[in-house]
Amino acid sequence: MAKNNRGKSLYKLPTKARGTCPVCLATRIKLLYTVKKADGIQLQVCKRCSKASTERIEAAIVPTAPLAYRRKHKAAFHRYGAKQPPVAF
Ligand SMILES: [Zn+2]
Repeated sequence: MAKNNRGKSLYKLPTKARGTCPVCLATRIKLLYTVKKADGIQLQVCKRCSKASTERIEAAIVPTAPLAYRRKHKAAFHRYGAKQPPVAF
């Protein structure tokens, strides 16, 4: 059984296959699964969100810059979206 999502091979991928999941905003999580939005934009999401409902994927934001948000800021981020950052860093 090949282990495509584990081990050394991940280190060759950009950012070592890790980042902030655009759906659940979990940070430093492995982004190995591709989902497609209705407008054709492809998102790299985490394992938990690879089976997320279409509504959640449609509501996902596509960050252009790495997000600095931590877990405690997630609720506010979901409320206001990307247009109004809840906390200034
Ligand atoms: Zn996720």
